[in-house]
Amino acid sequence: MPDGLAVWRVLRGAGVKLVKFVVVDIFGRPRAEVLPIEAAREAFLDGVAYDGSSIPAYTTVNKSDLVAVPDLNAVYVESWNGGKTAIVFTNTVDGGKPHPMDPRNVLRQAADYAKSRGYAPVVGAEVEFFLVRGVPPAPADSGVYFDGYLHGDSYAAVEEILGHLEASGIGLSKTHHEVAPGQYEVNIPAGDPVQVADQILVFKIMAKAVAKRRGLTATFMPKPFWGVNGSGMHVHVSFWKDGVNLFASRGEPTQELKWAVAGVLENALRNSAFVAPTVNSYKRLVPHHEAPTRVVWGLGNRSVMVRIPYYGGRINRLEYRHPDPSANPYLAFAVIILSALAGIEKKREPPPPVAEVAYELEEARETPPNLGEALKMARDGTPLPGQFLEAYLRLKEREWEEYITAEGSWETTWNKITK
Ligand code: GLU
Ligand code: MG
Ligand code: MG
Repeated sequence: MPDGLAVWRVLRGAGVKLVKFVVVDIFGRPRAEVLPIEAAREAFLDGVAYDGSSIPAYTTVNKSDLVAVPDLNAVYVESWNGGKTAIVFTNTVDGGKPHPMDPRNVLRQAADYAKSRGYAPVVGAEVEFFLVRGVPPAPADSGVYFDGYLHGDSYAAVEEILGHLEASGIGLSKTHHEVAPGQYEVNIPAGDPVQVADQILVFKIMAKAVAKRRGLTATFMPKPFWGVNGSGMHVHVSFWKDGVNLFASRGEPTQELKWAVAGVLENALRNSAFVAPTVNSYKRLVPHHEAPTRVVWGLGNRSVMVRIPYYGGRINRLEYRHPDPSANPYLAFAVIILSALAGIEKKREPPPPVAEVAYELEEARETPPNLGEALKMARDGTPLPGQFLEAYLRLKEREWEEYITAEGSWETTWNKITK
């Protein structure tokens, strides 16, 4: 474990001038207290003081002083800003204990719990996004899936982002142009769940910054354009015991993998408000755009909710296709890990895998039609600590209420009958 002073010295020696101490809010947004490098020394030793009452659900105005402790294993230098700024993720504490509203704490506790039961979770994510330009925003290129020789400013932006992924130590397992015009996918290498969630946030920050400098916008909205694929954030999970991947096999999934799949499917509807948490998320979860609409699984099938990657019959993980990039990755990972673990511990057998295109299946349970329904389902026992769940759902219910009572463009522009 590095000590605070040593990390501070390394950053100062590397020419870092500003340190952003990041507190992640309940929606997965990075909030930051920014300190000049000299002043940051003390924060590395004693933590950063901030006003917790100005972050949704953290605390009330009469008890607003909170302390965020730097996570010395979660330090990234902003190479896209010339290396002058460092991002340091923090854990908020409450009377010396992990603050219950900090999503990094929620995920750390979920992963530690799985570990204490003998299953160390390893998580990876495919983050899809669009590069757009103009008003109203239009896709920045007309590329197609797998386009290997795109020349233009959007691809140049992606190449620059890849360079920064390397420079910041996140790395990259692969990238490609996605199915829709202007759409890309970046795969964050699998690893410790909290670390990978941090890296998703860093990746979003850098992608937005690089795109903006090039006159583009990087958007992680799940369904920015109707009629074409939306953006998912597929989550890949394996459970390890004594250095052995319990989900690795050839031909047939292992017993543990099948139990985990059953747990993820069993909880999929009540977890929807966490993995697909925005109004717009539900406009992605429609048939025929490679996003799931049926709570089923399959081998090498991209129309199902849980796909087992099955290249050449080799199996080593499950891929949960339900999440999208508007999700708070810490919460998405936490509910997935806890659901998979519950399936294993209860030895739940999944239904048979689906070999056909799942969108047409009549018997299968369907994803909720909208955020409002997803929130009702989440009240039915989502596997998260009660206090956190309550705070999250209340905020999200308010958001849904705002959406359904706001005047929208559909009424004013499209509904010819009532116009
Ligand atoms: N864009 C699709 C989604 O919304 C996924 C495409 C793919 O399989 O990579 O989930
Ligand atoms: Mg993809
Ligand atoms: Mg995928």
